[in-house]
Amino acid sequence: MAECEDCRRDMLEAATCTVDAFIIRGERFDRLRQAGARAGRDGRCGDCGVQRQGFHHYGCDMEACPRCGRQLLSCGCGDDPDDDEVVDIMAVAGGVVVHPAALRGLHVAAGRFPFKDADGLTRHRP
Ligand SMILES: [Zn+2]
Ligand SMILES: [Zn+2]
Ligand SMILES: [Zn+2]
Repeated sequence: MAECEDCRRDMLEAATCTVDAFIIRGERFDRLRQAGARAGRDGRCGDCGVQRQGFHHYGCDMEACPRCGRQLLSCGCGDDPDDDEVVDIMAVAGGVVVHPAALRGLHVAAGRFPFKDADGLTRHRP
């Protein structure tokens, strides 16, 4: 069984991930839904297996970045320009952080992200 580390669901069974938003560089974005591009005949995502209109499991090849529209895994929106090792994306499910693990369980009030560094970026190592 392949389990999503964010929603803890079996990727072959789950209709959707529970992560509904990302915080990218301190700004909140609603996730884009699986729209059927390159989905299998049953409508499930060819990579992470969620159903059409579901949210991909984080890390899926097929997910588009809600900030820039390119492939989320490679668009670089979450990368720190000064440090390749730092990723600046948090995954949020129902207002609670689930990724990265170090911040799991933190509640994020709308528009308020209390864990920014002094320069306005949230930072963690993947
Ligand atoms: Zn998931
Ligand atoms: Zn997917
Ligand atoms: Zn992007």
